[in-house]
Amino acid sequence: MAAYEYETHTYDAIVVGAGGAGLRATLGLAEQGLKTACITKVFPTRSHTVAAQGGIAASLSNMGPDHWQWHMYDTVKGSDWLGDTDAMEYLAREAPKAVYELEHYGVPFSRTEKGEIYQRPFGGHTTEFGEGPPVQRTCAAADRTGHAILHTLYGQSVKQKAEFFIEYFATDLIMSEDGQCQGVVAWKLDDGTMHVFNAKTTVLATGGYGRAYFSATSAHTCTGDGGGMVARQGLPLQDMEFVQFHPTGIYGAGCLITEGARGEGGYLTNSEGERFMERYAPTYKDLASRDVVSRCMTMEIREGRGVGANGDHIHLHLNHLPPETLDLRLPGISESARIFAGVDLTKEPIPVLPTVHYNMGGIPTNYWGEVLNPTKDDPDAIVPGLMAVGEAGCASVHGANRLGSNSLIDLVVFGRAAAIKAGEVVDADAPNQALNQASVDYAFDRFDNVRNANGATGTAELRLEMQKAMQEDAAVFRTDKTLAEGVKKMEGIAGKMDDLKVTDRSLVWNSDLMETLELTNLMPNALATIVGAEARKESRGAHAHEDYPDRDDKKWRKHTLATVDGPKTQLSYRPVHLDPLTTTAEGGVDLKKIAPKARVY
Ligand SMILES: Cc1cc2nc3c(=O)[nH]c(=O)nc-3n(C[C@H](O)[C@H](O)[C@H](O)COP(=O)(O)OP(=O)(O)OC[C@H]3O[C@@H](n4cnc5c(N)ncnc54)[C@H](O)[C@@H]3O)c2cc1C
Repeated sequence: MAAYEYETHTYDAIVVGAGGAGLRATLGLAEQGLKTACITKVFPTRSHTVAAQGGIAASLSNMGPDHWQWHMYDTVKGSDWLGDTDAMEYLAREAPKAVYELEHYGVPFSRTEKGEIYQRPFGGHTTEFGEGPPVQRTCAAADRTGHAILHTLYGQSVKQKAEFFIEYFATDLIMSEDGQCQGVVAWKLDDGTMHVFNAKTTVLATGGYGRAYFSATSAHTCTGDGGGMVARQGLPLQDMEFVQFHPTGIYGAGCLITEGARGEGGYLTNSEGERFMERYAPTYKDLASRDVVSRCMTMEIREGRGVGANGDHIHLHLNHLPPETLDLRLPGISESARIFAGVDLTKEPIPVLPTVHYNMGGIPTNYWGEVLNPTKDDPDAIVPGLMAVGEAGCASVHGANRLGSNSLIDLVVFGRAAAIKAGEVVDADAPNQALNQASVDYAFDRFDNVRNANGATGTAELRLEMQKAMQEDAAVFRTDKTLAEGVKKMEGIAGKMDDLKVTDRSLVWNSDLMETLELTNLMPNALATIVGAEARKESRGAHAHEDYPDRDDKKWRKHTLATVDGPKTQLSYRPVHLDPLTTTAEGGVDLKKIAPKARVY
């Protein structure tokens, strides 16, 4: 018997999450006539995607020559050769189609004089396979691109009669005895009722886990719930050690100033007023990729050239740009700079600092969004009935480092791909399977245990301990010593999960309980991150290891898989996909062009 009474809902497909990825999947599923539900803990247009400012990458060639193969090359190089080749090819190839679809759905993109979609330069996006000048590839709706996409996709999904379960918190997956996903259990936040969703396919689109860190640009709702649910089923998380620090979080506040600011001509200076990026990245300067710029800023600060009373941050200048450009192209960040830094960016520089921004790792999938559970014989074995898209997933297109504007395109390309695949796999006429009651009971028992947790440690207290440990020990620069200390600290912190205390036992709008459930999800994500980082004895992309400063393709060009059980984490590895989908003979990928080499900007 389950510990709670519940209502059962039956669907062909459910999507957990209503950010860009979840909504694009929902729309694609509903358009095909599948009975589709989207379950979300926040109102759809409040998902973190709404905060995306800069734009979405696609080789439309509206503002100069571009090619999907150049986009693919930049993504491969950006990933520091850890991305899966087939997935990166699929992303770059399908990107223009996915953006034109958004345009036709109604996304109000900014326009060129000719009336085409406006595109701006972004870090790491170049021409001629990295030999040519920066390219204008990032399609933008001013500096509110995510906002525009989210509102459009929500409207279209409603039009297609997708059903929305808003402010429902999904707690756990339901798995059959033979390892198929059968749906989820959810708690309705505003009236305390419990719900079981039986679905032929379940798509996790729950976003990233930035909140495992103390200072992050992501929303407080970015708690890696999908990763937590997957980890609790004994399934692995992939490449979690790769955490992106964005160069320009507002100092002290953590809010983001988009890379579009540098795309429009902004630049960084140190305490000597020097444009230091010219020294580190002579060709692309302030538009080198994010991991590179974040490291250079950290080095300037460490060597005593930080700005401010404590010499602990950097200046971002936009004050040389015409106020009309700032008004037209960057109205949102003008406001953020005023509110969060007290700065009028037409007159003074903005104080900035590298801030946690994006999780390259996540739930491993193929490029159709199907979740992988690698076995000895088959590193690409799938979990039937389970998919993951967006920041929650790891396809893997971003490898060890994501390029700016490559996430929004990942959301729509793979949200769309998952819907296409589900359309092929799901038989709308077949009845749903009977649910595995043991799995349903497990979910309710766990919920009940958390709700009645009666230890001595407060949720906020333990969360803060975790966030501080991660911020200190899984940082921009890492060493054997800090990582080993970090693993020890984190295992201790995770061990205290059994000692949590929830003070509010009610079921209606109980934020104490919700935050505790979120902490049970953040914890496995954080553990996988730091344990994976400690094991990886090389530097690649966002993982900058001071004791092993070089990339080691021979030993480490492989994906980390982390299986987390309580405070313990087991690691294994899976090969990177090296084969493209098409060959040169078919007008496709030239493997010579994307062969590994040193990554210089
Ligand atoms: C400030 C900021 C600016 C950015 N700018 C850009 C940019 O310009 N270009 C770019 O390419 N990328 C950008 N990124 C990155 C990009 O926006 C994110 O990676 C992306 O929006 C994530 O989308 P998502 O759909 O995966 O998840 P989110 O948008 O985070 O949505 C997650 C969804 O899951 C739901 N959910 C989570 N857990 C549960 C649960 N337990 N039960 C029910 N529902 C749940 C939430 O309600 C929400 O609807 C930016 C990121 C930030 C933080």
